[in-house]
Amino acid sequence: LIHFQQLNKWFGSDFHVLRDIDLDIARGERVVVCGPSGSGKSTLIRCINALESFQQGGLLVAGVRLYPEGQEDERAIAQVRRHVGMVFQQFNLFPHLSVLDNLTLGPIHAAKVPHAQAQAHALAQLERVHIADQAYKFPLQLSGGQQQRVAIARALCLSPEILLFDEPTSALDPEMVHEVLDVMTALARQGITMVCVTHEMDFARSVADRVVFMDQGQIIEQAAPEAFFARPATERAQQFLDKLI
Ligand code: ATP
Ligand code: MG
Repeated sequence: LIHFQQLNKWFGSDFHVLRDIDLDIARGERVVVCGPSGSGKSTLIRCINALESFQQGGLLVAGVRLYPEGQEDERAIAQVRRHVGMVFQQFNLFPHLSVLDNLTLGPIHAAKVPHAQAQAHALAQLERVHIADQAYKFPLQLSGGQQQRVAIARALCLSPEILLFDEPTSALDPEMVHEVLDVMTALARQGITMVCVTHEMDFARSVADRVVFMDQGQIIEQAAPEAFFARPATERAQQFLDKLI
């Protein structure tokens, strides 16, 4: 469903942030991306919904080909974004809109879904994240964990084939982490394709099909979580795991 082909990206002329990325993610697969700060994890997943451009190589997402900088195709980018939902560390909700309006904004304006249909679908997504009772509140009236679940529901509103998460629990108070991870775990069990940057290694262990470890812009190793956590193949991954404990 997602194919990186020898993708390379630079920031400016000399900072080589993604190096020779080859990565294939199948439909329904759940992939956790981990690695030290600055290793390129966010940049990698932001390429998947064309929030970042790249300079060399290729990327196929849900059958749509994305091209390097200078050869971009706006229609392809719009098509990819329709297939891909994203959840950020900071929830990025609109504070002046109710929860429900945050969810229906994209469907009504970008996808031209009729108002009533968009609302019904949005309420159904809020139910999936157990927060339908907060539909008429404003984001800042909710806890961090609730806001992040709203952000997940918003990502679900366009019925994406792929969900991207970039450290979705890192900005949360510890007592709210589990409610977000529980929702993500339930979604994973429902078969949606997920690519998740996270340091929540228990989540990776119980939910991921595969762990991808990055360092300095490269994919250093990828393995099933059992294998990765029990005996990482590289010294760099071992050092990374040692620091987490
Ligand atoms: P973290 O765990 O801290 O979130 P990360 O693995 O997600 O790190 P990225 O955010 O992908 O890392 O950043 C990779 C490198 O690229 C970092 O050195 C970062 O400073 C740099 N970088 C990120 N965005 C830009 C940008 N827009 N312009 C220039 N450099 C950038
Ligand atoms: Mg990051």
